Amino acid sequence: MAETILVVNAGSSSIKFELFSVDTDDQLDKIIKGQIDGIGTRPRLFAATSKGTLLSDQTWAPEDVCAVPAALEKLIAFLRPQIGGELPAAVGHRVVHGGPDFGEPVAVTSSILSELERLIPLAPLHQPNNLAPIRAVLERRPHLLQVACFDTAFHRGHADIADRYAIPERLYAEGVRRYGFHGLSYEYIVSRLPHIAPDIAGGRVVVAHLGSGASMCAIADGRSVESTMGFTALDGLPMGTRSGQLDPGVVTYLMRAKGMRLEDVESFLYKECGLKGLSGISNDVRDLLASNAPEAKLALDYFAYRIALFTGMLAAAMGGIDAFVFTAGIGENGPAIREAVIRRLEWLGLRVSFNANNSNAVCISGEGAKVPCFVIPTNEELMIATHTLRVARRREAAAVREKRA
Ligand code: ADP
Repeated sequence: MAETILVVNAGSSSIKFELFSVDTDDQLDKIIKGQIDGIGTRPRLFAATSKGTLLSDQTWAPEDVCAVPAALEKLIAFLRPQIGGELPAAVGHRVVHGGPDFGEPVAVTSSILSELERLIPLAPLHQPNNLAPIRAVLERRPHLLQVACFDTAFHRGHADIADRYAIPERLYAEGVRRYGFHGLSYEYIVSRLPHIAPDIAGGRVVVAHLGSGASMCAIADGRSVESTMGFTALDGLPMGTRSGQLDPGVVTYLMRAKGMRLEDVESFLYKECGLKGLSGISNDVRDLLASNAPEAKLALDYFAYRIALFTGMLAAAMGGIDAFVFTAGIGENGPAIREAVIRRLEWLGLRVSFNANNSNAVCISGEGAKVPCFVIPTNEELMIATHTLRVARRREAAAVREKRA
């Protein structure tokens, strides 16, 4: 059996995973995809091959899989026979926050894990969930290479001016910065551009990652220079259930006038706002597109409007725009949203082709476009697997050098 890399994306009650095989040229090929959900309530492991053949759909009693460590053991027990009784060569983890210091993926040791745990206050809802499986593996299988890949890392090269809020320096020093997220997705898009549009790969590109979480990034010469997300993944565009950019005065109003506590406000901004709050109908763009209600139309118009507004901001950060890219669930599958966005950006030189857009073509620009527009499916898991394999190879090379010395 070929070497394999396991990619893990852990949430509060679920672990999504993908298993990649590594061929002799170090090409990665997804072979299994699945998830364990209902951890602690109704644990279920669902897995299929990359071609969709069902491999597992099993459930357990809640007490048998009450937390992440037990879920990982079930996952490993399921995977092992699939890969000739071996363990994966390495595990790559999606970790939301790398703080100010982690600008690239890192092999996790217990001291690195402690550093990552110190970042929990920066992402209290996600970081603990991302780190739980790392700790579980480190405790039970300390020799298995684990690589943390951060959503923030791709943005760490931002200029100082893009990294700040206008708040006292002491807060910046302790980490209150404009980090930006979805970095693994943007990095993957950057890796695809030379193949899809070589003439603009080195140019100024605005990428809109429109999934249930949504953000946009200004990318110049393959590097992130500005993002719509900042300190947390609440900022910027309205999302399925997250508010996006908001006057901080709204928060103080909710607390003072409505008597909301910190937890209420946090839950409200993360779970009750965005498209769901605005429409009162659904957080899912498909439901809103299918609805005739004026509130659904307002929510979709608002979404397209904000994407267009932020495009202006991101283009300003780069001094212009050479291409626009849509990606993630809505970006890849929502021609109506793409068209609404592009129509609002005609002043910038974007034009939509009705046929190309409605057939989800790679290039959806219409006649007379000065700025080409692309739809590029993202693949954050492949990006994590790629990083993990690179770290593994670097360590192997270092070990060989050490042996020779
Ligand atoms: P995440 O990975 O952040 O959960 P995805 O990138 O998978 O999100 O995107 C999920 C979102 O994509 C859904 O909430 C839905 O609104 C949207 N989506 C999926 N399919 C379509 C479609 N055919 N048309 C419009 N939107 C879609």
